[in-house]
Amino acid sequence: MEINMEDCLFCKIIKGEIPSKKVYEDDFVYAFYDISPQAPTHFLVIPKEHICCANMITAENSSVVSKCFEAIAKIANDLGIADDGYRVINNCGELGQQTVKHLHFHVLGGRQMQWPPG
Ligand code: 5GP
Ligand code: ZN
Repeated sequence: MEINMEDCLFCKIIKGEIPSKKVYEDDFVYAFYDISPQAPTHFLVIPKEHICCANMITAENSSVVSKCFEAIAKIANDLGIADDGYRVINNCGELGQQTVKHLHFHVLGGRQMQWPPG
């Protein structure tokens, strides 16, 4: 599961080495549109600190998770999906179908979601 930062796709996106469509950035967080959107609005919110997955969140690094959720609320309001509602998803590990090993929160909006997820 562990991958070093030099080889991490999302670390490269944060550094601008790989282009992305940015929706928000601050000192702790970067947010950008997913390259393969699964809803009319689909963006990813990631901490700038490389944390490989939700299972590696600790008392020492968990403040970036609050920063991600602060950003989600702000962006959702800015993009106009807050009133109708939206879904925040974190895929963790193999069974969670995490494909990029840098902690990220998917935010999907603009359509009716279903439950349970696949
Ligand atoms: P995961 O499957 O790990 O939860 O989510 C990874 C997400 O990253 C996928 O939804 C995928 O479409 C997105 N993704 C993968 N590579 C890129 C890329 O180069 N640029 C952008 N914007 N999104 C990407
Ligand atoms: Zn990374």
